[in-house]
Amino acid sequence: MRSDANFAGPMADPVPGPRTESTDVSRETPPPMDAAPSFAAQPPTPAGQTPQLVGRAAQQVVEAMHQAGERLPRPERTRVMVVANQKGGVGKTTTTVNLAASLALHGARVLVVDLDPQGNASTALGIDHHSEVPSIYDVLVESKPLSEVVQPVPDVEGLFCAPATIDLAGAEIELVSLVARESRLQRAIEAYEQPLDYILIDCPPSLGLLTVNALVAGAEVLIPIQCEYYALEGLGQLLRNVDLVRGHLNRDLRISTILLTMYDGRTRLASQVAEEVRSHFGSEVLRTNIPRSVRISEAPSYGQTVLTYDPGSSGSLSYLEAAREIALRDPSAQSEQPQQQSLAEGNQ
Ligand code: ATP
Ligand code: MG
Repeated sequence: MRSDANFAGPMADPVPGPRTESTDVSRETPPPMDAAPSFAAQPPTPAGQTPQLVGRAAQQVVEAMHQAGERLPRPERTRVMVVANQKGGVGKTTTTVNLAASLALHGARVLVVDLDPQGNASTALGIDHHSEVPSIYDVLVESKPLSEVVQPVPDVEGLFCAPATIDLAGAEIELVSLVARESRLQRAIEAYEQPLDYILIDCPPSLGLLTVNALVAGAEVLIPIQCEYYALEGLGQLLRNVDLVRGHLNRDLRISTILLTMYDGRTRLASQVAEEVRSHFGSEVLRTNIPRSVRISEAPSYGQTVLTYDPGSSGSLSYLEAAREIALRDPSAQSEQPQQQSLAEGNQ
């Protein structure tokens, strides 16, 4: 596994300054954001439009971004990010696929590893994942090379997916008796020779062996937190698991990124949750919140990310901006995270 010297191309600032209060609750493309009128000029992509046209629409958004002239740094080594939260339905998959597409549209080479037997990330990326398809199950349980299951994602150049099939549902049990059961994904990724800038691993809503494999394989944990009541409940257990894996199996592991999802700026609850999360996690929380957006939730049913489904929507722009923040953060420059410890202790 290595980072590709040919990556990058011009990368630009899509939306200058933080976006923290955006909301998209209508079915219409939202009004233009102040700094990015050219993005908002894109019409919503009608269902049934050809993939080629959809891909071009997304490309236009990024070209408009590049006109601002900023280049995003490319990581020196492949950044492996584990998107985890054992709570269900908080936006792990949505975040994985849309961040991955955003990073790819910025010019990076990105692999999504679908580690959830539900296969939602594969579906959202338009990747076939019926039970005959070579999948991440074969990699974990049958030791098949990762390169034999990775597929290019239609419409988004530089984006790839290792799909999950329903077979993966049995893997939690099958892995138990296998040698090096916690580090099988790590080994597969290390042996993968294609150049990549980012690997994003979409975890299932549990803390079993699949998630442990992801935590052993990655260096960074990205936790999406839904801006709802009980948002922080149960997070202590995830944080303790991260500590355990760091202590025994992967000393490089750290929680690098918290992303607030489904943020509804009309409600006080959302801003209260955001405030609480920021007070616990501090600088690890991205300034960009992902708004609650009908466009984001519609996109997977067309096998698309919101970046290709409705490039000008607030959801699309938020993920592009979150991706920019992530690309601009230097993980090696960040320090220990005492706030997380206090949450782990206080949220038993
Ligand atoms: P699971 O734990 O089952 O894997 P998850 O954490 O991966 O779930 P998602 O599948 O990404 O969560 O999202 C749950 C639901 O919320 C989906 O129907 C998705 O379309 C919707 N959703 C996610 N993010 C948003 C958003 N910003 N606005 C509106 N709907 C959203
Ligand atoms: Mg999911």
